[in-house]
Amino acid sequence: MNTVNNVLIVGGGIGGLCAAIALRRKGIAVDLVELKTEWTVYGVGIIQQSNVVREMHRLGLLDAYLDAAYAFEDVAIYTTEGQQLARIPGQRLAGPDYPANVGISRRALHKVLSETAIELGTQVRLGTSVERFEQDDSAVDVLFSDGSHGRYGLLVGADGLFSKVRGLLFGDRYQPRFTGQSVWRYNFPRAAGIDHLANYQGPSGNAGLVPLADDLMYLFTTSHEPGNPWMEPATLADGLRQRLAGFGGLIGELRAQIVDSADVVYKPLEAVFVDEPWYRGRVLLIGDAAHATTPHLGQGAGMAIEDAVVLAEELTAGGHLEAQLQRFMARRFERCKYISEMSLLAGEKEVQRDPSFDRIGLVKQMLEVTARPI
Ligand SMILES: Cc1cc2nc3c(=O)[nH]c(=O)nc-3n(C[C@H](O)[C@H](O)[C@H](O)COP(=O)(O)OP(=O)(O)OC[C@H]3O[C@@H](n4cnc5c(N)ncnc54)[C@H](O)[C@@H]3O)c2cc1C
Repeated sequence: MNTVNNVLIVGGGIGGLCAAIALRRKGIAVDLVELKTEWTVYGVGIIQQSNVVREMHRLGLLDAYLDAAYAFEDVAIYTTEGQQLARIPGQRLAGPDYPANVGISRRALHKVLSETAIELGTQVRLGTSVERFEQDDSAVDVLFSDGSHGRYGLLVGADGLFSKVRGLLFGDRYQPRFTGQSVWRYNFPRAAGIDHLANYQGPSGNAGLVPLADDLMYLFTTSHEPGNPWMEPATLADGLRQRLAGFGGLIGELRAQIVDSADVVYKPLEAVFVDEPWYRGRVLLIGDAAHATTPHLGQGAGMAIEDAVVLAEELTAGGHLEAQLQRFMARRFERCKYISEMSLLAGEKEVQRDPSFDRIGLVKQMLEVTARPI
């Protein structure tokens, strides 16, 4: 008999949905509330590296996930002009029959995760949030935004960077901060040579090309934006072309094709890290709510997915809830802190244009660290 038999997940993003899937597979009842009334995600892609492919396998999702993704092996790093500096072979952590890495559109990933969570019996309520909660020794009582109530063995806050649950737990102690950089993204038909993750070192920010499907890839670039200026939506195509001005090679060729501001996805980069246990009693934070960082290492969602898998394992591994959550923290805290800090460091070094920074070494180290069992 588990200590926790029913869980409320607040937030139906990547972390919340993976937690729902992992918990349902262990037989735990799951309610999930999602603030959005229309359950959509914005239309660019995401890199999922070998540790994520391994966890998708453990979540029993790998075939549906791979059908929706572009599988690839290597990560390469190029100069601004497109000359290859390093090619880092991927590790097939899910087994020899499965790819090392994937690129996947966020919408395709959301479809696989949301359909699976619902098929497994997750009770989803859209357009709903948590108003407040109170806990005692045996459960947490929740008042929802629609005035209804619920009583749960555990409440999981998977509500992202601006987490309301984090605020209810810790007050205003942890606030997202702008890192000084923004990311610009744009979809293109996949170029024949982009059958791997291609990173280009730029004069003032890096760029990259990520394959998403046979006929689709996306371009991203980071830029230093002191003061986090408002970007007029109609100027985004011009703005992105300007940020790519220093690049030659393929990125330079693609730059001229960036014409539609409506297709540019612009995002200031913000980060937050809860530097103490991510739970109080029967309320736990996972994913970006606890450890949102920048995408420089492509591991934010990876850490949210790993949180989900570890949570379900620990909740069904015996002991009291406090011991279960302590074990969860012991497996998650340092790993997420490493990804959080190293991603921020990579961004700071870009802003400083520090030529001594060993980016290739950091990527290799990150792949080695994340390949370790969780
Ligand atoms: C530009 C950029 C590029 C990235 N690229 C990558 C990458 O390539 N690879 C990678 O692994 N990671 C990447 N990431 C990080 C990744 O997107 C996040 O780490 C991941 O989405 C975190 O998932 P989450 O479920 O914790 O939070 P979210 O994805 O933010 O989901 C939170 C959910 O909670 C809902 N919500 C919010 N508030 C409430 C509330 N009060 N009540 C109910 N629901 C609520 C939201 O609507 C949302 O659906 C990138 C991030 C950025 C910014």
